[in-house]
Amino acid sequence: MLIQLSELFTCEGKKKEYTVETSLRTLEFGGETYRILEAPPFVLEIESLTRRKFAMRGSAAVTVEGHCARCLEPVSFVCNLCFDREFAIGEGNGQEEDSEEEPYLDGSCLDADRLVCNELLLSLPMRVLCREDCRGICNRCGTNLNFGTCTCDTRSLDPRMSVIQEIFNEFKEV
Ligand SMILES: [Zn+2]
Ligand SMILES: [Zn+2]
Repeated sequence: MLIQLSELFTCEGKKKEYTVETSLRTLEFGGETYRILEAPPFVLEIESLTRRKFAMRGSAAVTVEGHCARCLEPVSFVCNLCFDREFAIGEGNGQEEDSEEEPYLDGSCLDADRLVCNELLLSLPMRVLCREDCRGICNRCGTNLNFGTCTCDTRSLDPRMSVIQEIFNEFKEV
């Protein structure tokens, strides 16, 4: 959804409420594809402060599905997005000095999908876990250790530990 910011100049109070429906379905981040499970329409109010400066207000709750970093099971979680901020649009052609333009702006157009996408990327957790104490999967047999146990050598369950263990063993053999 594109919002033409120039239309605000003729609106009463120079502000307008938009009902934003995002068409975003997936989100790529850090090598993982997140699925957007639910993104209900939300109200975004945009007010023009000067010819180039605007303020927006709004919030949205988006349900995202990723995968647990330890056991790889799908995990869904809610990202609460807040859009309250001021932003400025560029002059257009030529002067690109302070062109720290927001990625969701294209000239005097605001791309609501990119705005949501941008905000989602910022709110994604550094690491998705199905639960804090997820026990992960056995790196030898693949058993999900949250649901069962396996008979593998449990001293090398953690892949990082097993590397250390291997180095250690090599030293012993010499
Ligand atoms: Zn997990
Ligand atoms: Zn195992």
